[in-house]
Amino acid sequence: MAFKIDWNGNDGRSNPAPGTKEAVACGICGVPMNVKRNVLGPTGFGEAMAGKKHLHDCFTCPQANKDWHKKISSIKIDVYLAKIKNASGYEKIKEKAEKEIGEIINANLAR
Ligand SMILES: [Zn+2]
Repeated sequence: MAFKIDWNGNDGRSNPAPGTKEAVACGICGVPMNVKRNVLGPTGFGEAMAGKKHLHDCFTCPQANKDWHKKISSIKIDVYLAKIKNASGYEKIKEKAEKEIGEIINANLAR
């Protein structure tokens, strides 16, 4: 089965309001993420710096700390940056990234 890349997906973490999401798939590798419900804490850097916190559900990908997972995340960031900078070779960059991500998924995630 071909892996479908979610270019706008999460990066292996998602913090929706409590109870709003039954399940969330990882935006990097597509597996269902682990969840901790009703966590009290900050969900962003700004909030953490301001010492603020609020209740949320905390979804995290079980593979988020693996090197290959981080690699896919950084490839996606490169493609995103090429897009917002309107880079001339954007379509080529994206095509190459799709191939590379597909290979990483195949090598690390048996489907
Ligand atoms: Zn993942």
